[in-house]
Amino acid sequence: MNDCIFCKIAAGEIPADIVYDDGEVLAFRDINPEAPVHLLLIPRRHIATLNDLSEADAALVGRLYLAGQQIAMELGVAESGYRTVINCNRDAGQLVFHIHMHLLAGRELGWPPG
Ligand code: AMP
Repeated sequence: MNDCIFCKIAAGEIPADIVYDDGEVLAFRDINPEAPVHLLLIPRRHIATLNDLSEADAALVGRLYLAGQQIAMELGVAESGYRTVINCNRDAGQLVFHIHMHLLAGRELGWPPG
């Protein structure tokens, strides 16, 4: 989508601190981190929300989680712990309408979220 900020990051049109790219899934640091580690994992392909996934995207969703696992191991937070979150629509606070998985780590994360 032309006006999607995460599509522009995926296309290299705007800068981001990219930490992972396998051609299908991209991970970069959140510009407004809520934890010492706060990454966003996105599919390169534009999908607006979780509601827009279809059966054909099942493997892609799995790859998002496997990329998160790999990154957590590489950053040394896999054992201490991390949280993955995908917000969907207004009540969850979704601000960017290109599916992204938050990966948060590096401090004790409260639960449940406020
Ligand atoms: P959400 O509320 O789940 O839609 O989260 C959107 C996230 O994207 C927020 O945590 C923002 O800080 C982050 N964000 C927005 N623009 C950028 C950007 N250009 N680079 C990195 N992170 C961004």
